[in-house]
This record gives sequence, C-alpha cells and structure tokens, in this order.
Amino acid sequence: MEHIRCLIIGSGPAGYTAAIYTARANLNPVIIEGHQPGGQLTTTTEVENFPGYPEGITGPQLMDDLRDQAVRFGTDIRRGLVTSVDFSSKPLRVTVDNKTELTADAVIICTGASARYLGLPDEQKYAGMGVSACATCDGFFYRGRTVAVVGGGDTACEEALYLSGLASKVYLIVRKDYLRASKVMQSRVTAKDNIEILFNTNTEGLFGEEFVEGAHLVEHVGTDRERHFDIAIDGFFLAIGHQPNTRVFQGHIELDEQGFIVTGPGSTATSRPGVFAAGDVADPVYQQAISAAGMGCRAAIDVDRYLMTE
Ligand code: NDP
Repeated sequence: MEHIRCLIIGSGPAGYTAAIYTARANLNPVIIEGHQPGGQLTTTTEVENFPGYPEGITGPQLMDDLRDQAVRFGTDIRRGLVTSVDFSSKPLRVTVDNKTELTADAVIICTGASARYLGLPDEQKYAGMGVSACATCDGFFYRGRTVAVVGGGDTACEEALYLSGLASKVYLIVRKDYLRASKVMQSRVTAKDNIEILFNTNTEGLFGEEFVEGAHLVEHVGTDRERHFDIAIDGFFLAIGHQPNTRVFQGHIELDEQGFIVTGPGSTATSRPGVFAAGDVADPVYQQAISAAGMGCRAAIDVDRYLMTE
C-alpha cells in the first residue's frame, strides 16, 4: 500500500493552494482531483474579484494557473474520486475509485460544494432535457430561446446575465421580494432589457412533452393571496446555492447540521487528528475563491506544524 505524507482531496482553489504551500514545505503532496478537476470555477466565465487580476480572468484559466503553480513545486496530481475513508487510527486510510488504497500522515479535505436543487420530482424527470445547474456549461443550447433562472443571489444574477447574452428572454425567479446579490450584480441584472425578475415567486413544477416547455409558478401576493400561473420556457436553471461535498466523510469527522465540516476554533483542524479541511466544504459563510485559497494556505501551515510534532 502506498504511503503519502500529505494527501489533499479535491482540486479547487483550496486544494491547489494547500498543495503549493505543502510542496514548498517539502511535504510531497498528492492531490486526488475528484470528479470535477479544477472545481466549480471551471464552470464559470469571468472571475472579477480574485485579487491580482485587474482585468478579470476566466475561471478555467485561473484554475489552470493554480494547477501549474502547484505542479511547479512538485505536487503529484492524480485522477480519481475518494470513495471511502478510515480516519479511526494512524496512518489515515483513503480508498480511491473503490480500488486503490492509500495511507497518509495528514489529509486536507478540499472537496468543495455542489449546486443545490429545489427537490421537485420534475427536476429529475427533465434532467439533461432542459434542467441545468450550470449556465456556462449548457447555456449555448438555448441561443435565441427563453429560459428561467431560480435564485436571488450572486450566482443567480451571474447566470441570468450570462444567459441574457444567448437567450432571447430570461426570467429570474426570486422567492423573496428582493435580490440577495451584491449591488453591482443587481444593477447589471436590472439594466438588461431581456431579463424579467419575478419576485415573491416559487416554482411548483415543470411541464413538457419530452423537453421542458414551461414552468408552473406561484406568486405570493401580500400575506394571504396566491397567484398560480405558467411561463413558457425551454430551459430551467438552478442557482440557489450549494451543498458541501461531504457524504464520504459522514461518520468519520464532525459535520454541522448542513453537512459542512466543522473546523477550529482558530485552525483548520477537524475532529480527527491529522485531518484538516479548507474551502467551501468547511465554510458555510464566505464561499469565495479567494477565501477558499486563503483557507487552503492555513490548512497547509496547520499540517506542517502538526507533522513536526508527530
Ligand atoms: P446564496 O446563498 O448567496 O443565494 C442563494 C439564493 O437562492 C438566495 O436568493 C436564496 O433565497 C435562493 N434560494 C435558496 N433556496 C431556495 C429555494 N428552495 N427556492 C428558491 N430560492 C432559493 O448563494 P450563491 O450561490 O448565489 O452565492 C454563494 C456565495 O458566492 C455568496 O457569498 C456570493 O456572494 C458568492 N458569489 C460571488 C460571485 C461574484 O462575486 N462574482 C458570483 C457567484 C457567487 P433567499 O435570499 O430567500 O434565501
């Protein structure tokens, strides 16, 4: 069985940053990339708020740069998905793709988060047939068509803006009477003629022969009246936040009630000695590329100190 000094699970900004730091500390990090190498930013367009890029940078380019920087210092990046773990004794044990068993002195979990769905049966019925959680992946199919985006945060606004450049019309379905998104995103969305915001509105279902042809909506008018109506759409995009990718760690480390890994206080250490966590998987609050990268740096420093005392 192969033994690894520092194993990093996940390849988003947190994972790559942890790799850059642990590689430079001579901890010979190995990254297991996961099912989406590069993480969520590989499915975004422009990243305008990562410091150091005054003109912005595309998500895929930013991740390529971080990957190259990790490789430059000797990080060993491997394809694969971690399918089980055993953190009950030392060395820590991790199985990749149900077959390759590895042991490690320290593990940094950076598995990020995945898009949330509303939980409607129709989301599954029309999966790949008009339902998507990634406008930049699937928006191209909706050129000149009508689409809806659900959510009122920065992601929903970003998706709506991206789609407004392709689709003829974009509905933004917002359950409250305001957008939670930052002011700059709000003003960009409201400035677009082909984005119509439906406030106080929830989705009850989707309809269509084979592909999505429309959505059943309900608007809450005042405190006690509901208006049920349908909109004709070709695409239905979810942008209602993310859930942490922690299923494989359930029962092995402490998670909060939403499934985020509990760390600290004041460190990236989890409830198991030698296991650390960084990025969106351990951060229900900030969830930014730069804060994930910062936490990856902290985890690497925590691992270095932990291994010195072992
Ligand atoms: P958020 O949690 O900020 O927003 C989620 C949105 O989805 C809210 O409007 C929420 O409504 C709505 N929502 C949640 N559940 C449901 C539901 N069941 N039905 C209908 N609506 C629902 O998530 P985001 O993904 O937008 O953003 C996450 C973080 O990433 C934020 O900190 C954000 O600022 C950041 N981000 C920054 C970007 C940028 O700066 N360019 C781009 C994208 C994200 P409600 O308000 O009622 O709770």
